[in-house]
Amino acid sequence: MPPASAATARPRRGEGQWALGYREPLNKNEENKKNDDGLNVRDRIINVYSKRGFDSIDPADLRGRFRWFGLYTQRAPGIDGGKTAVLEPEELDARYFMLRVRIDGGQLSVAQLRAVAEVSTAYGRDTADITDRQNVQLHWVRVEDVPAIWDRLESVGLSTMEACGDTPRVILGCPLAGIAEDEIIDGTPQIQKIYDDYIGSPEFSNLPRKFKTLISGNPLTADTRLINDISFIGVIGPDGAPGFDLYVGGGLSTNPMLAKRLGTFVRPEQVPEVWAGVCGIFRDYGYRRLRHRARIKFLIKDWGAEKFREVLEKEYLGYALADGPDSGIAEGSLRDHVGVHRQQDGRFYVGFAPRVGRVSGTLLDRVADIAEAHGSDRIRTTTDQKLVVLDIDEDRVESIVAALEAEDLQVRPSTFRRQTMACTGIEFCKLAIVETKGRAMTLIEELERRLPEFSEQLTINVNGCPNSCARIQVADIGLKGQLVTDSAGNQVEGYQIHLGGSLGLETAGFGRKVRGLKATAEELPDYVERVLRRFLAQKQEGEAFA
Ligand code: SF4
Repeated sequence: MPPASAATARPRRGEGQWALGYREPLNKNEENKKNDDGLNVRDRIINVYSKRGFDSIDPADLRGRFRWFGLYTQRAPGIDGGKTAVLEPEELDARYFMLRVRIDGGQLSVAQLRAVAEVSTAYGRDTADITDRQNVQLHWVRVEDVPAIWDRLESVGLSTMEACGDTPRVILGCPLAGIAEDEIIDGTPQIQKIYDDYIGSPEFSNLPRKFKTLISGNPLTADTRLINDISFIGVIGPDGAPGFDLYVGGGLSTNPMLAKRLGTFVRPEQVPEVWAGVCGIFRDYGYRRLRHRARIKFLIKDWGAEKFREVLEKEYLGYALADGPDSGIAEGSLRDHVGVHRQQDGRFYVGFAPRVGRVSGTLLDRVADIAEAHGSDRIRTTTDQKLVVLDIDEDRVESIVAALEAEDLQVRPSTFRRQTMACTGIEFCKLAIVETKGRAMTLIEELERRLPEFSEQLTINVNGCPNSCARIQVADIGLKGQLVTDSAGNQVEGYQIHLGGSLGLETAGFGRKVRGLKATAEELPDYVERVLRRFLAQKQEGEAFA
């Protein structure tokens, strides 16, 4: 633990920063973490809770430490969003769990995909969602089955460790790492090294809150660089060798902020220690007093990039990083991973779109069959809730496209299927106010029927509450779930509309929330259709929706 530096004078009111001497827990979450490391719950799950059942679980483990292994209690069915605020947490518990499987870099082999599929069908009632952080989430998991699930996942090198909780979560990576024709550097070795050295280590198992990482050697596919806690983006350095540009302090939720560039060039071999340095600053100087101010973005906002870099170099690395060029790219050139595209080696990758990430264990097993039958052992998840199969020979491309599309996994989908995302919503999430996945699927179908020719770039992101798990503030049309008043004066499910958000580097910004601009869930297709027809009628040549 480094000493408090002169550069970090003690603020008048403590924010719970360890490095400034505030070691006493200032709230219940901090107290729970101090009482027992979240990583210690694994033994209790294996040796006690899985044998004695749900009712034996200590509440501090159930609603706290279980998250360190990707387990959240899921919402009891039939409780509507309007009651969420007035119920005690235990009244919302379904006695079943959501289980998040971390897929670092979004990289899966056929055997790993089969294991996830098997766990879903055997223990998760065949549920599976691809998340916008490249994970897979299963539902209806019983604590009794967790040890068997871990055995199966770990047999193929997968894990749920630190998939949730106040920890370094899954490390995002470019789904095309190692194969994109225009990649600057493959970030996979850096992801693996950080995973091996730091994930599950007590060094970083008690952070103020979650810590999200992106490592992408290809700026063209790094569209979330501005909204992660830390991002390393491929760039050619001052000496002509490839390395990484560093961003810190992005995040959405209820106080969205865009990450700041530190202006450094990070050599490939420096990435793990720089990551550990930034994570260490967050652990030691991060605010712990208030949960809603406990993300690293608040520290960056108060310190600024210059001071953050100085503390990183002087107190954590012990050396100065080189100044480096901006990895920024031309506006409009970001891309997703859907469709058929050539790889570096002349083979092809095939990206496809399930509906808003909703799949099943059975379907994932089918994807494994299809990939294997076409000679591939590499599948990728994307940050847009999509999947990609790599390494397809040219003469087998049309065959795999046909096989995927026969399963309703579209390789050439409409704009609406391609660019709509939805969070978990009220079906399983205890924080949700409204339904999301089903509404988004209906919206896609309606828009495909009403606007079949629409081919503009357009992202529609649907959230079940203000937490922004599906990134509403940076979508062209962001829909934030809330109760709204319908024309008959009833409180019904609906959405606050955000318009014109963007993650493009020059246009990056949060969508505008127009006061009073809300739609009931029922009105939603009509509302979006009206907006899009007006956009088509009024847009100038080359003008994008954002
Ligand atoms: Fe749950 Fe809200 Fe996140 Fe959706 S945005 S998954 S409703 S917490």
